Amino acid sequence: MADTLFAKIASGEIPADILYEDEDLVAFRDISPQAPTHILVIPRKPIPTLNDAGPEDAELLGKLLLAAAKVAEQAGIAEVGYRTVINCNAAAGQTVFHLHLHVLGGRPMQWPPG
Ligand code: IMP
Repeated sequence: MADTLFAKIASGEIPADILYEDEDLVAFRDISPQAPTHILVIPRKPIPTLNDAGPEDAELLGKLLLAAAKVAEQAGIAEVGYRTVINCNAAAGQTVFHLHLHVLGGRPMQWPPG
């Protein structure tokens, strides 16, 4: 469970374009950006999906959201607007089973998402 691609990015085993990191979280650029700015924010803790987060993760999930806002600000997309997305399980498009928050911006967004 801990041996996902993103766990390896968090540990430094696999390189990534890291924009922010602290003891709990890492933020890095998505390798296949779906918008001019596309950043992923992950907990270092290897939680596979949002369904696997528990009450003990409440503070960590809060930090994840605050970090998303911080990297959006640093990327210059905070004022005009951006989207955050968590895909939960394959039917929703999740391909990497290490919880991650997408931060997308730099272009107009459509609603509903596909
Ligand atoms: P998901 O579809 O919500 O699971 O998102 C996984 C994301 O990880 C996709 O947007 C991929 O483009 C991205 N991704 C996959 N491999 C890498 C990598 O090695 N570095 C950075 N992003 C990656």
